[in-house]
Amino acid sequence: MQYIAHIIFLILLVAGFGLFAKSLHKIYRNIRLGREIKRNDRKGERWETMTRVALGQSKMTKRPVAGILHIFVYVGFIIINIELIEIIVDGIFGTHRFLATVFGNTLYSYFTATLEVLALLVIVGVVLFFIRRNFYGVKRLNMKELFGWPKEDANWILIIEFALMMAFFTMNSSDFILQARGYSHFAHLGSFPVSQMTLVPLFEVFSFDSGFLFGIERAAWWFHFVGILFFMNYLYYSKHLHIILAFPSTWYANLEKKGKFNNLDSVTKEIKLMMDPNADPYAAPAEGEAEAPAKFGAEDVFDLNQVQLLNAYSCTECGRCTAVCPANITGKKLSPRLILMKTRDRLEEVGRNIDKNGKFEDDGKKLLNDYITKEELWACTTCNACTEACPVLLDPLSIIFEMRRFLVMEQSAAPQELNLMMTNVENNAAPWQYNQADRLNWAKD
Ligand code: SF4
Ligand code: SF4
Repeated sequence: MQYIAHIIFLILLVAGFGLFAKSLHKIYRNIRLGREIKRNDRKGERWETMTRVALGQSKMTKRPVAGILHIFVYVGFIIINIELIEIIVDGIFGTHRFLATVFGNTLYSYFTATLEVLALLVIVGVVLFFIRRNFYGVKRLNMKELFGWPKEDANWILIIEFALMMAFFTMNSSDFILQARGYSHFAHLGSFPVSQMTLVPLFEVFSFDSGFLFGIERAAWWFHFVGILFFMNYLYYSKHLHIILAFPSTWYANLEKKGKFNNLDSVTKEIKLMMDPNADPYAAPAEGEAEAPAKFGAEDVFDLNQVQLLNAYSCTECGRCTAVCPANITGKKLSPRLILMKTRDRLEEVGRNIDKNGKFEDDGKKLLNDYITKEELWACTTCNACTEACPVLLDPLSIIFEMRRFLVMEQSAAPQELNLMMTNVENNAAPWQYNQADRLNWAKD
């Protein structure tokens, strides 16, 4: 019987990690469908930014209550999963609380007690988040764009985390009683202050016999183990992918000043040529000089850069960007959160197409128009409020900007007002419809 349990454990372990590795590989492959972008400069600053923003969650604490609760849940959940190491060793070798032999009894007691306190904080955090998300009416968490799967996903994650923590306490409580009774191999190991105050008294009220308690302890242990594997594999389908991808996203964040747009070198070169009377327009480009890209701007996910696609997978769907977006606040169709959600949806669709056909087969769809409309794109004021508000330094504006660039430079499809303004700049060197000679008319008299 013991051997069967070990075999089942190993099969689940290999399958769980194997599927997880497969999902990560799929994400990596999809991100690499985008254009390459050089963001390996200023490494020291990048490490500092990632440590401060992704690990230290520095931008979350701008809203202190939600920020601190988020830190409870995040840090608590990650540290508690160190226990997975113990579960894996115990599962493979049939040991019980393996880490006690590594740490020694005293240190192990501190370790288990700390985990219990963290688990309690996680429970407090997820319960309050659940209430806030579903009953408190925070506008950005209850917008129409979240109806359906995004809202269900957010709730499921909280429910799964709650269930995992409860399994953790159930396991510890039954273990504690079995240790006290000297049952079988349950040696006196660890310290469980939260369990002792909560579930242990409850179990004792019912006077469960040791065999039954052993069954509860094993069931909770297996539930905890299978639950962690499930959670890991669920991430791929969830906005909670950000617990992993927030790290690369902050590392590859745009460190330039907000508002500095990426001029195309090839266009700058053309303009310089136009302004230089001695330039030879037919001269071959010098080594390292920018070539004109095959396409200006972005029409589909293939035209976005790899950091933009990474951003789409990293979005937490928190809506802090949308809550500060002046276009959205004033009733326009634009929501920067939705720009990233739609980009991810399209990228996933492209990924499924590749899975099915071995390579991408034209499906007659594009990110532009089929997912993101011109109306949304032209509603953006390029104010950068969204990038400033994002807790993980994502940049929905850059996607909007690239798609507008496509509309203007490839399709000449800018709105009428803009076309007029651009024609004026071209002809009059000013955005207004006046002749250059009339510029000083305003000063007459
Ligand atoms: S840059 Fe555009 S999308 Fe972002 S907040 Fe401003 S208007 Fe909204
Ligand atoms: S882009 Fe940033 S602020 Fe906006 S929903 Fe995603 S994570 Fe939140």
